[in-house]
Order: sequence, then structure tokens, then C-alpha cells
Amino acid sequence: MSQLSLPQLALLIDGEWRAPMSGRHFDTVNPASEEIIATVAEADRDDVDAAVQSAHRAFLSGVWSRRNGIERARVLWAVAARLRELESDIAVLESVDAGKPLAATRRQDIRAAVDCLEYFAGWADKLEGRTVPVREDALTYVSREPLGVVAAIVPWNFPLMNAVWKLAPALACGCSVVLKPAELTPLSALRLGEIFLECGLPRGVLNIVPGYGHITGQALIEHPLVSKISFTGSPGVGKHIMRTASERAIHVGLELGGKSPALIFADADLEAAARAVASGAFFNAGQVCSAATRVLVAREAHDRFVDSLTARMAKIRTGDPLAAGTSMGPVISRKQQDGILDAIEGAKKQGATLAYAGDCDSPRGFFVPPTLFTDVTPDMAIAQKEIFGPVLGVTAFDGDAQGVALANDSRYSLAASVWSQDIKRAHAAARAVRAGTVWVNTYGHTDTRLPWGGMGGESGVGRDLGRDALENYTEQKAVWVQL
Ligand code: NAP
Ligand code: MG
Repeated sequence: MSQLSLPQLALLIDGEWRAPMSGRHFDTVNPASEEIIATVAEADRDDVDAAVQSAHRAFLSGVWSRRNGIERARVLWAVAARLRELESDIAVLESVDAGKPLAATRRQDIRAAVDCLEYFAGWADKLEGRTVPVREDALTYVSREPLGVVAAIVPWNFPLMNAVWKLAPALACGCSVVLKPAELTPLSALRLGEIFLECGLPRGVLNIVPGYGHITGQALIEHPLVSKISFTGSPGVGKHIMRTASERAIHVGLELGGKSPALIFADADLEAAARAVASGAFFNAGQVCSAATRVLVAREAHDRFVDSLTARMAKIRTGDPLAAGTSMGPVISRKQQDGILDAIEGAKKQGATLAYAGDCDSPRGFFVPPTLFTDVTPDMAIAQKEIFGPVLGVTAFDGDAQGVALANDSRYSLAASVWSQDIKRAHAAARAVRAGTVWVNTYGHTDTRLPWGGMGGESGVGRDLGRDALENYTEQKAVWVQL
């Protein structure tokens, strides 16, 4: 195994690494080996208060919020460059903490983080306003101002990337941030904190408070000096955050869950669809909010598609994330593993056919085999509930209208894919499917330049990424100057 170099394991508050006032620490575990990697400081309510106060002071001082955009951009560029330099180290850190195959961490997680930092660095000096002619005797203009202190709360499936999706636009806009990484995966966020300090981010502009959701996260979302909560995680916690934020009527962005359909028509390139579904459903052991877990196939193509898919699933190599050739690692925790295994048992009980189950007989680690069910009906839990593991179900449909209706029979609305070689049919389906992102004849791409988010409900509200993310972290101000 490559050398693992640990980051600071303290709290980042007011530009320095502090021991927690809580006096408490928690372990972070390698999900492939079940071994403790490190013991990390836990922030309690007092620690969170110190972090938010520091962020607020920094914001009011103008040291970052009123700094020239080009100077803010330079810090973000420097952080991106440093991430590139440290790519190998950070990839190992992230892979060990989150159980991700190393090659995928490098290819996906780190690159997406670098790309996001560079993209929003480019916006930092382009947050222009506009003049609006209103009356002869007045100059009226609209400017954009940073919102204030942003609470960024992120999950464990893409720890670094999700943190950067919040931090990069918030910092580009001049906000201060308090980041709470998931308690299961705090290490890459702490490394990122070191890099920001090294690259000259002024003290207090970024604070990092690892800890548990119900303690650290709860203190953060209730804090009166927070102006915006930017959250990625489960629908239950997301709705709780929205209720809490409603007490103070502050801004909230929620990137929540998914149960994304792959709608495959009979005229689709079935090989391409099987390849994409196999990678879309089992990438990151299925712990992806946009995982392709509801496969809807035209009945006449069903058997051919399932054959192609199982052939591809047989090639998935489950094992140690750091070993060359591993394509799927463990899931994040024992709890997650138990929940997924329960869902598999539940699908069998409800009458779905177990069409394929891979093998993974590791004596240790939270492994779940890639699992495929067929004969899934829309009322089954496996068709409706997000499992967040390497499990997918296939349902046959008759006719385009039924396929689209099945695709939309969900409380989720994050992403979907449609597969057809007929351009009219593909566009019609892309329009009809209710999802924040629709892929046509492909699966799973996200890009910093494109908005990402759900169409409400269990998938959340608001958009990360793209120029729209700038709206998340700025307010408009109308100024009326009497002439
Ligand atoms: P989660 O339990 O909701 O946790 C997400 C974050 O919220 C963690 O940092 C968690 O802290 C924190 N948290 C928990 N309770 C809190 C509270 N009362 N107040 C403030 N923060 C609190 O979700 P998860 O199980 O880690 O992640 C899986 C879910 O995230 C899935 O549903 C998935 O679809 C969704 N997800 C969505 C996207 C997207 O882009 N839409 C991306 C990734 C994941 P602790 O971890 O310390 O408990
Ligand atoms: Mg861990």
C-alpha cells in the first residue's frame, strides 16, 4: 500500500488547528479492513459557535468578502494547483477513508474537485451587476453581494468532491464557510483545510468542524449567524434542515437522494446500455445519488439486455480499494451493509427474481456483492426506495407511454437516462422524464459547468455547479442614486 500521510486531526477554527472544547474524539475506519485509520477531534456546540463566530467576523471584516475578485480567484487557482500536486496522496487518503477504488478516486473525485475549483475561480472576478434605467433623475443599478456565513454539510460517498462543490462557489462569491464533513469520512476535508491555509486563505474564512450529524451538524444549522445552509445527504435530514432553517427564514440548498431510471427502448444499442448501466449502478458500490438503479426495458429487448448486463456484472472485481484491478470496493459501514442486505432479502420476499449475485468472500470489510433482480414491479420496495448500494432491479414495459409512466412513478427526480437510436423518441422521452439531469444514450456524466440537482421532493431543491451556483451564494442589491 502507498504510504498514508494523515492530515491534521484537529478542528480548523479561526485559521488555526485547535483541540476540541468538547474534549471528545471519534475514530474513522477503513471500510475495507475495519481498522481504525485515525482519531479525529469532534466539535460540539461550543466549538461550532467558535467556528461560526470566526466565519462571521471574517465576513464582516471584508478581508475576503470585499476583496477583489481576481485576488479571490488566485487563492482558488492555487488550491486547485496544490490539489493536483498532492493528487496521489489525497487519492490514497480518500480511498482508505471511504473504501473507494484508488483509480476511480484519482480519475473522478480528485479531478472533479480540481475542475470545480478552477471553474469557480474563473467566476470570482465576473460577478457583475447591471444598470436598470428607471427614471431620468436617477441612476439605478443592481449589484451582487456575498450572502454571509455558509454552513456546508456533506455526506461520505464523495467526501472531497462534495465539499468542493459547496466551497468553491461560496468562496468565489466572497462568503465565509463552516464545513461539516461526514463523521464517517473526515480526512480529505481536513487535508483540504491545510491546503487552503497554505494557499493564503485569510483566517476564519474557512472553518472545518468534524463530528456527528445530530450534535455538530445540528448546532451548525441552528446557529443564528448562519445565512445559508448548503446540504448534500439523505432526504430525511434534508427536510429536517429545511424545517430548522424555516425558523429563521434563511436560504437552503438541498441535494438529496435518487432512484434514477434507465429507460431502454427496443431500438436502443443494448450493449452500450448494458455497459453504461453496469457502470452507472455499481460505480462507488452503488453509493451514488444518481445510481442507475431502476432499469426499465422494453419487453422485446428485456432478455437480451439482461444477458448483456449479467455478463458485464460477472467482470466486476470486488475487493481491496488499493489493489490494482479492483473495480468495486466495500460499502461505507456495517450499518450501510446491513441495510443493503436487508433490502436484498426484502426484494426476494416481495417476489423479485434474483437474476445475478456476484461473489465477494472477504473475511473482513463491509462488502456487498453486485446484485441484480428482474421481475421487479413498481410497488416493490426495491423499485421505490433508495438502497444506496450495488443493487438494481429490472422491469419490463410495453410501449413508450408505459415506459415513461414507470420512469416518472417515483418520489425522486434527480437523474434519468433514456436509450434509443431514434432521435425523435429519445428527445420526446428526455422531455417527458421528470429529472434534473437526463442522459441520452449515456450515463452518469456530471460536469462543473452544468447545473446539478433534483426537481423537488426526495431529490431536493436548488442546483449545485454551473453558473447557477453563483446565485446560491449571493444576494442582489438594488441601489437608487438620486441625480
Ligand atoms: P445523511 O445521514 O443525511 O448525512 C449527510 C450529512 O448530514 C452528514 O454530514 C451528516 O453527519 C449530516 N447530518 C446528519 N444529521 C444531521 C442534523 N440533524 N443536522 C445537520 N447535519 C446532519 O446522509 P448519508 O447517509 O450520509 O448520505 C447518503 C444520502 O445522501 C443518500 O440519500 C444520497 O442519495 C444522498 N446524496 C445525494 C447527493 C446529491 O448530489 N443529490 C450526493 C451524495 C449523496 P454524520 O455523517 O456525521 O451523521
Ligand atoms: Mg472512514
